[in-house]
Amino acid sequence: MIAVMKTTIRTILFYDRFSCLGKKCPLNCCHGWRIPLDDDSVRRFRREKSPVGLRARIAILGTRQPAFGRWHLNCPMLDPDGYCSLQKARGEKFLPDTCRIYPRDWANLGIFVERTLDLSCIHAATLYLQAAGDPEGGLAFREETGLWELPRAGDNDDPEFLQRLMERREEMLMSLSPERIPDADALDEVIFQLADDGRREQDRCLKLSTGGMKRIRLFPFSIMLLNEMMSTFFYEDGLKWTEPRLYRMCREYYRAFDPLTEIEGQRKLKELQERYFAGPDTPGIRDLTRYFTYCLIRRHYETYEDYSFLRRIEEAAVHLNMVFLFELLALNAGRKLTVEERAGIIACYEKRTWHNEDVLGVLIKQLNGRFV
Ligand code: SF4
Repeated sequence: MIAVMKTTIRTILFYDRFSCLGKKCPLNCCHGWRIPLDDDSVRRFRREKSPVGLRARIAILGTRQPAFGRWHLNCPMLDPDGYCSLQKARGEKFLPDTCRIYPRDWANLGIFVERTLDLSCIHAATLYLQAAGDPEGGLAFREETGLWELPRAGDNDDPEFLQRLMERREEMLMSLSPERIPDADALDEVIFQLADDGRREQDRCLKLSTGGMKRIRLFPFSIMLLNEMMSTFFYEDGLKWTEPRLYRMCREYYRAFDPLTEIEGQRKLKELQERYFAGPDTPGIRDLTRYFTYCLIRRHYETYEDYSFLRRIEEAAVHLNMVFLFELLALNAGRKLTVEERAGIIACYEKRTWHNEDVLGVLIKQLNGRFV
């Protein structure tokens, strides 16, 4: 039985604008990853006598942790007409939790729940970009009291620490306010400061002494650091089938930078950055700061469980720099950075990293090796 509790629910404002594009979606989430199944759904599929139940049982046959799409290709429940066979046969309630809820996301801290949208969904990424002109850069939350059904994730019970996390979040948002960040140098400085403060706070909480950090450029990353990241299994040939758009974006990187020496590559990167910041139709430092901020907002409360202040900053810095790189590559290839183009970049990049700890972990490791 599911427990229900009364709590404060904070919802990012563009959340309510979401509704799935279904068959019309240009980057359908029924392709390209493994869809984990919750126990209730597995039990439901086992009991279901109709052909769709049999199909679901065959699809999860032999998987250690029940999941659809073990080869990261089309979901086996997707019909050739582009519709989900489970939903067609038995309605939305029959879907596994992952499919029913995605791309809605939440952090449940008990005394409040915070709801955001996951930008690995291209439509959510579009709504996020379109909200840039809204008050507070579209990153404001509305607050209400309501019932929340799901149990709180994690088991930390330290109200004082949670209070400190809430304060820290306000401090971070303040330091990231657009008027404080006129250019790339200022953004770099703020990110480094947040990382350094985060490391100190983490050391205090965990009673550690990890020593200082090397002052490397955290925005934009150097071509050497980006190249190290691109040389991990972030890129692999299999992307051609599992995530063709990301595959093409990675190939653009290799075509542009592989033939160059480090010095030539750094020069080319700088030229592209100058074009990006000078162009009247290109996004600017405000958009990049906003993306970094949204990445931080979404993961901030995970620190309640692992005390990894620094890791949250590193993650957001990696996401910011990788998305920026792919935007520069689009510019290099002569494509305009329209909302559509940028939403596609964000969605397929996030699809590869936000739900894949191995891939994200290996990117963070490259960064860590340079500055911690
Ligand atoms: S990616 Fe988003 S809009 Fe597209 S099918 Fe999935 S949930 Fe719907």
